[in-house]
Amino acid sequence: MISSHLKHIILFGPPGVGKGAQAKILSERFHLTHLSTGDLLRDEIKRKTELGRRVEAAVGRGEFADDETVLGIILASIDRPQVHDGFVMDGFPRNVHQAERFDAMLGVRAKRVDRALFIDAPERVILERLGGRRICNECGATYHVQFKKPRREGICDVCGGRILKRHDDNPEVHRERLETYYEKTRPLEDFYRKAGILSHVNGNQSIEDVAAEIARILMGKKD
Ligand code: ADP
Ligand code: ZN
Repeated sequence: MISSHLKHIILFGPPGVGKGAQAKILSERFHLTHLSTGDLLRDEIKRKTELGRRVEAAVGRGEFADDETVLGIILASIDRPQVHDGFVMDGFPRNVHQAERFDAMLGVRAKRVDRALFIDAPERVILERLGGRRICNECGATYHVQFKKPRREGICDVCGGRILKRHDDNPEVHRERLETYYEKTRPLEDFYRKAGILSHVNGNQSIEDVAAEIARILMGKKD
C-alpha cells in the first residue's frame, strides 16, 4: 500500500474507458473506498431503502436515476465511517450540476475533491472495450473477452459466479451512452480545469500502464 495526500478522487471519462477497472486498483493501492454509483444504487435496491424504492421504479421504467436520488445516495455513502479515509468515485458526477452539488456537500463537511482524473481514449478503442465487456452475474467483477480473460472460461476468478454479457451492452445503447457522455459529462473537463484539480490520463494503454500513470499523478510526479 502506498499513501498520497490526495484522498478524495474522482474518475471520469467516456463509458468503457476503464474507470471501474482503475477505481478498483486505485482503491486497493491507496487504501481508499471505491464508490461506484452503479453498485451503490444496486445496494439501496437490495436493502429496500426509501431511495432504493425510488430508483427501482425509475430503473424499471428503463430510465436513469434522477440527479436528486443519486445525490441522496452519494451523500449517505460519504458519511459512512469507513469512507472517512478517502474515496475514489467512479461514475459520479455525470454532469456539471451534480459536480456543483457535490462540491457543496463536501464543503459543509470541510472536505473537497482533491483531484479529478479524466481518463480518455479514442472512440474506436472505447467501442472495442464496451463490445467485449463481460460481467460476473454474482459479484459484478468485470472481464473482457480479449483484454481481461478469467482463468476459467465463463467463471469468475473472484467468486466462482457465472460471467455474462450485461443485457444493456449492445451497440445501440453504446452509441446513446456516448452521445449523452459528450453532451453532459464531457463538460466536467472544463469544470475541474477551472477548479485547478484536473489531470489527464491516457486511457489508451494496458490496464497496468494506466494504473501506473494514475499512481504517478497521485504521488505528485506528474502534472
Ligand atoms: P468504465 O467503468 O469506464 O465503463 P470498465 O472498467 O467497465 O469501464 O472497462 C470496460 C471494459 O474494458 C472492461 O471489459 C474492461 O475489462 C476493459 N478494460 C478496462 N481498461 C482496459 C485497458 N486499459 N485495456 C484493455 N481493456 C480494458
Ligand atoms: Zn464474481
